[in-house]
Amino acid sequence: VVEKKKIYFNEFNVPTENTIYFPYSSGLLRAYVQKFNIINHNYEFMPFLFIRENSKEILKKYDNPSIACFSSSVWSHQLNIKLARLVKEKFPDCLIVFGGPQIPLDDCIYVNYPFIDLCVFGEGEQMFHKILIDNLENKVIKHKTLRAQKTITDLDTIPSPYSNDIFKYLLRDYPNIKFKAIIETNRNCPFHCSFCFWGQSGIKNRLSYHGLDYIETEAKWLANNKIEYIFCADANFGMFKRDINVAEIYSKIKLFYKYPEKIRVCYGKNASDTIFQTAKILSSAGLAKTVTLALQSNDKNVLKNIGRENIKQKEFINLRKKYIEANIPTYIEIILGLPGETYETFLDGLNFVLESSDNSQIFIYHCEILPNTEMSSKDYIKKYKIQTVTTPLHEIHGNIRDDETEQEYNEIIISTESMDVETWKKCAVISWLIQLFYSLKIGNKLINFICSRFQLKYTDFFEFLFHSNLKEVSFLKRVADNVSNGLSRSQSDKRFGPIYWEPEEFVFLSIILSKQNFYNCLFDITINFLQNKKISYNIDEIIKIFDNQKKEILDLNQFMDIQEYAEKVILHGRKSNLSNIKTQKNT
Ligand code: SF4
Repeated sequence: VVEKKKIYFNEFNVPTENTIYFPYSSGLLRAYVQKFNIINHNYEFMPFLFIRENSKEILKKYDNPSIACFSSSVWSHQLNIKLARLVKEKFPDCLIVFGGPQIPLDDCIYVNYPFIDLCVFGEGEQMFHKILIDNLENKVIKHKTLRAQKTITDLDTIPSPYSNDIFKYLLRDYPNIKFKAIIETNRNCPFHCSFCFWGQSGIKNRLSYHGLDYIETEAKWLANNKIEYIFCADANFGMFKRDINVAEIYSKIKLFYKYPEKIRVCYGKNASDTIFQTAKILSSAGLAKTVTLALQSNDKNVLKNIGRENIKQKEFINLRKKYIEANIPTYIEIILGLPGETYETFLDGLNFVLESSDNSQIFIYHCEILPNTEMSSKDYIKKYKIQTVTTPLHEIHGNIRDDETEQEYNEIIISTESMDVETWKKCAVISWLIQLFYSLKIGNKLINFICSRFQLKYTDFFEFLFHSNLKEVSFLKRVADNVSNGLSRSQSDKRFGPIYWEPEEFVFLSIILSKQNFYNCLFDITINFLQNKKISYNIDEIIKIFDNQKKEILDLNQFMDIQEYAEKVILHGRKSNLSNIKTQKNT
């Protein structure tokens, strides 16, 4: 009997408490190559390595490997590198293969990491098959990155790792882990956003699709196996008419099986009617209660610089109205640090969002430079005088990283030709304050009242707050300073659970522990603000609005403790606008 060659897949996703994604990319590779008899005859697929731990511990799981495959993303690249080096040292004949968005298009990776034998750039399934065959025939050419020549036109040629039970054993062997699933109903993206891997990188932007039967069979497997949470990796869900059918499939399945509980989708960037219809279907099935409106910036010049001219202001306002009428909450995304953005345009954009957002969630992200994007090119960086800082990656809502595992990093823009570092820091603090006050509802009623009653700009209040002596503002200023000096923005406190929080979430939870103190200080600041603006006000009106504001915040004593509060109100409640939260006392 010929001993089969052992293949090990390494795909370390980010865990949140006891939940983690199935190693989907590796599962697709395995499902694809297992269609071929020659592969099954010659290779043995070893259990997926997907739990992040010390590289030496992971190495112990290797036994005479023939091929070790590493799926590299920003959250796993350093661990992969360290582990791959150890594997090569211990098993010099093992072929080390890397793939994923961290892989550079050229061959420079082999200079720094000569223990990597091969990389695959772009779609991996067919290339992986070629590598396995070449390996059998001793034809592998090392240190030469393989690049898919054309996109896979019929995605159904890749069997589903779910429907084919490739992950079934994980459910049996890890009963304490709640697995989450990634799915794709189509692949690639027709847009060209400069900060995105799909927007550039030389990938041919031709879209390919799974058939509806494939999607339904996969959905049934996920429901049958009680998978609660699904992330749909389509770049523009709802942009195509057939997405309505996809939404119907999942809502029908949920009605029958009660699973999945939630699907997260990234909606298309232009305001088409099909997006609205798919959102309505998913929302009424309780699968995806909210819709993202990815604005990123409200400035035409910035949108041009980032290759994202696909959102029109008028359409945005109309779409917002439609969602409000249909009672579908939206969350709006903005990015800080984009090239061309100034202090004024950034604040104007925030005012536009706040004026038109009517209780939406607002998420303001820091612009990150990812490999293989237009934004990462030397010319682009030079053109916009981009300055970045490398910070340790502590994934928001991911488990607090154990010092034993390899540190991962991300690269954040902190200055451009149109925004210096000090201004970036000020914008970062104002952004956190807006999210704290508005999205987390510490002060939404108050701000709405002041701005509409006295006809003031929303950002006037936040600029005033920035200069106040509120201790929460001083804390956020320190966080901004730290980020600009290369520290992570993520915050943690064991009382709030074992995961990282956004700065505004961390401040929110701290306020919940001593709410009265905070509102007393805020009251004084509000009065100062009105006096500073020379506005005559009725003090009873202000007292009343503060009383109403405090009622917006769920009380801590409705929960077992602050950890349960953090989990229900922020971790699971934020994107659904902190609504429909069932506490122990009110279920
Ligand atoms: S950000 Fe979204 S729309 Fe833009 S290129 Fe990437 S996937 Fe496409």
